[in-house]
Amino acid sequence: MSEVITFNLDIGTLEIALSERNLCADELNKRDNTFLGGLKLKNELEDLSKPDVDKDLHINLKPNGMYIQFDRTLVKQGIKEWFFMVRIPFWGGGDISPDDWLKLSNLAEKYSRDEDGFASIRLTTRQTIQFHRIKKNDLLPLIRELIEFGKTTLNACGDNVRNTTASPIKSDIFDANALAQKIGMYFQLPLEDHYKIFYPDYLSSEKNSSLNNTTVSFQYDVLGLPRKLKIGIGGYFIDQATGEELRCNAPDILTNDIAIVPLIAEKKVSCYQVFIGGSLGQKNRKVTFPSLAGPLGIFETEKDLMIGLDAIVKIQQQIGDRTNRHWSRLKNILFKKGLDITGKKIEDVLYDEVWFNKIRDCGIKWFGEEIKKLGIEFKDPINIDPGKVYRHHGWIKQWDNKYSYGLWIENGRIKNSSHIGKLKSLVDEIVTQVKPNIRITPFQDLLLTDISESKIDILNGLLSSHNYGTYSNLRTNSLACVGLSTCPLAVAESEKFLNPLITELEKTGFGNLEGISIGISGCERHCSRNVRFDISLEGKTDGAYQLKLLFGESEKEHLSADLIYEKKKYLRRIPQEHAIPLIKVIIENYYINKTSDEKSISLFHQRIGMKNLIKFLKENEITKQLMNTTYELYTA
Ligand code: SF4
Repeated sequence: MSEVITFNLDIGTLEIALSERNLCADELNKRDNTFLGGLKLKNELEDLSKPDVDKDLHINLKPNGMYIQFDRTLVKQGIKEWFFMVRIPFWGGGDISPDDWLKLSNLAEKYSRDEDGFASIRLTTRQTIQFHRIKKNDLLPLIRELIEFGKTTLNACGDNVRNTTASPIKSDIFDANALAQKIGMYFQLPLEDHYKIFYPDYLSSEKNSSLNNTTVSFQYDVLGLPRKLKIGIGGYFIDQATGEELRCNAPDILTNDIAIVPLIAEKKVSCYQVFIGGSLGQKNRKVTFPSLAGPLGIFETEKDLMIGLDAIVKIQQQIGDRTNRHWSRLKNILFKKGLDITGKKIEDVLYDEVWFNKIRDCGIKWFGEEIKKLGIEFKDPINIDPGKVYRHHGWIKQWDNKYSYGLWIENGRIKNSSHIGKLKSLVDEIVTQVKPNIRITPFQDLLLTDISESKIDILNGLLSSHNYGTYSNLRTNSLACVGLSTCPLAVAESEKFLNPLITELEKTGFGNLEGISIGISGCERHCSRNVRFDISLEGKTDGAYQLKLLFGESEKEHLSADLIYEKKKYLRRIPQEHAIPLIKVIIENYYINKTSDEKSISLFHQRIGMKNLIKFLKENEITKQLMNTTYELYTA
């Protein structure tokens, strides 16, 4: 049995934003239907006479790990076809056993088929699996089959702690995955309430052992949290080829509400540094912003860390804004407080990286004091680099003389109609013959682990027999979210646009140019973390994109920026057909003018500066008309 940690936090002295009068519509629905939806949701899901559920229950589906959706490409033809997306969390990305993978693969065959009729498994940047296009009459059978083999969809979406991400690399120094398991378990919502809706018979079933554990859990409010909360854990490992000790920041942890970096002394974890306030989502036409987490402090032991996490989430739960979902994340508490302290206006600092971080850090300092008032101790943070944002592709020797293989999966989409080949069959065959353990990586790939040396040739043979080739750096370093056909919030294609874009750039000879990554998102929520890529395309409206670029080293604390000069924001709504020539021009400029020590396009852009880049694009024959037609006046 785990050690019982008790928390008795008195947070009564803090401002409480929760007020009957001001609760936003989603909060009211959470209150009226109960957070997980209760009997009302159960009845709606069992009613197969209609393809959807009442709109006021959409918010309650989410903590249960699902969204109700419709294909936005079909809406343009006047067809609204309802279906569900089911997301399965895997704390730290796994481990998924070979048997469980094959069960998941079978469930995809049975229930989750894309519009082309092929079974599909979609890996995500939060190390989860998504099944798309689930019809209502398949929803309960799918969830029940998952429950029967020990998987729950709880916490995968919704206003709660989401799937905790962690470095997937195997390490004998720090097991980030094990910590993700503890955090995931602690912040899991009540399973029993979920079963009552989706599988009441299972509660009394002999197969049900999942409710018998005595581990303590986070005490969620009846409304859950005001908004989602994400936690990411960095890794630390020894490169077996060089003997070097390295930090692994594969989950790009500072993009999380809470980020955890282990501090290592003599090849052992000595304590943990915590950062808070990251989150990349924005909302069009609202004063909102992506933000990276800043340092809070150092917690001495794992127990102290868990107590600290409990306090951070509890304070967010108590004082996060429940009146306005666009300002309800942890980052918003910090920024509101920081703005109060400094007397600045958010509009004045949005495009000033130095002031922006100062305001966040003022908010973090205040937040830290509030935690300390609860009797929780931690030390001041130190300057620390969370490490390289590894993709972990190809063969990696593990510390225990076994091997991992990082299998790049374009956009995390595993299906047999991929332009790369029969990816689903390939993965199934590898799993059957090689029997690796499986971790989903934060780059939507698969890390196949614990492979003995004798199985290396088998895996290599399967790759070549499936014509799985060598793909360009540009292709394997780039990423897109699902986009239009399977996300109700998308306004432009993302996944389906990445391949044509990369193919064109490869034809121009840019495939293996050093230091370029492209991220695409179908809207401003940035699920693909695209604002951390060198070149970012963000769905803006009606199939058009905004271009954002990084100015500075991509793995450091930078977010890609709007192109602003003389009160104009450029390239705000780029029609899809203009995006490819535009990006070609931008990359060509880098290729021709970079210096020999400039290792990435973002460093090149930092040197030449935004003003000169805008001037160049305004004068270039291919891009000048676009620059004149896609700007907006910026008045802040
Ligand atoms: S970024 Fe937008 S379009 Fe893409 S998956 Fe997220 S919400 Fe959907």
